[in-house]
Amino acid sequence: MTSLQARHWRSAADALALLRQQAVVTRPQLGRRLGLESGPTSDLVKRVARAGLICERPAPTGGRGRPTTTVHAHPSGPLALVVDLRHGDWRLGTCALDGEVNVLAVESHDGTQPGAVVARIRSRLRSAARRVGDRLIGVGVAVPGPTVEDRFANVTMLGWRDLDLGRLSIPELPLVVANDATMAAVAEARLHTPQPRSLLHLVVEIGIGGALVIDGRPVASARGVHGEFGHLPLGPYDETCPCGARGCWTIPFDPPHIARRTGLRLRPDPRTQLHRLFTDECPSEAARGVRQELATSLGRGTAGLVNALDPDLVTLGGLAFELRAAVPDGFDDAVRSGLMDVHRHPGPRIVEARSGDDAPLVGAGLSVLDRVVDAAMLAEWAAKRATA
Ligand SMILES: [Zn+2]
Repeated sequence: MTSLQARHWRSAADALALLRQQAVVTRPQLGRRLGLESGPTSDLVKRVARAGLICERPAPTGGRGRPTTTVHAHPSGPLALVVDLRHGDWRLGTCALDGEVNVLAVESHDGTQPGAVVARIRSRLRSAARRVGDRLIGVGVAVPGPTVEDRFANVTMLGWRDLDLGRLSIPELPLVVANDATMAAVAEARLHTPQPRSLLHLVVEIGIGGALVIDGRPVASARGVHGEFGHLPLGPYDETCPCGARGCWTIPFDPPHIARRTGLRLRPDPRTQLHRLFTDECPSEAARGVRQELATSLGRGTAGLVNALDPDLVTLGGLAFELRAAVPDGFDDAVRSGLMDVHRHPGPRIVEARSGDDAPLVGAGLSVLDRVVDAAMLAEWAAKRATA
């Protein structure tokens, strides 16, 4: 490779990094971010498009400006396979260079046989890998619990410990295994313009999770077990959490705990049950009381995290925003009274998350791409395409 070619592929890698950091990228934005005039930007886009990596679409016209294009992944470009393993089901899909996810399969499980669940995912993953062929560049897996060394997952609410997900790797390709709330935070950060320098993404699902994302990436940590906010000691100290610690914040959010307190029977799909509890317009007195307590607890914890982390933006994902909306005064009062003076004027920006159900799949895909896509990989891809 000549030094000019090397420079071209470095610019291409920078352009693709921008497609991962920002959900919508126009051609002029791309040029500005790379410090290029419009001529060289146009050359770059054409070159990367010829290599089958990106394509352009007309941008929606929003006024009198000159018509432009938005930049997307090429329809036959590289793909990551992504899995989102959840408490009651799992989903498998592809993720393209621009973070666009296409869901290929959804299957439910009852949480009792982790080995069988992994075997089933592996089988579907292998057949998807055969279909994707040499476009496949890696596998990303999001799991609802702490993960270690891109391989082991702990889904404490299901009692799954040190579940080995190494079997989901495809030979010679990287495997990224990460916490689903962290992956959702990565997907969330790219939906805000300008992108917040530091984003605190808080998620209520079956338990509380989240992540602090700096410049679009989760903060680094020693063992990759970062963002377990639900296991801060903000809960009842006389109770032990399935994680092994006492007094975790997440304990009162646990569906069996809520079922006991509200007198409701625990259903096979606890997420739907929580959703109903948070959105019920005529809750029982007990349900209203639990809702009030949880919203207050969520507000206190949010304030504590703002005090500790001082983020530019806080987003509430999963069922967290529903809970806030159910008891807005309770949540807001708890945030206000929990904040240090220095954070009160102006108060923190706390908004509903924009990313939807696919967020963990998107984040898992972007994390694989972050690891794999560089100038050398792109040059190799283009050379292979040229000789095909
Ligand atoms: Zn815990």
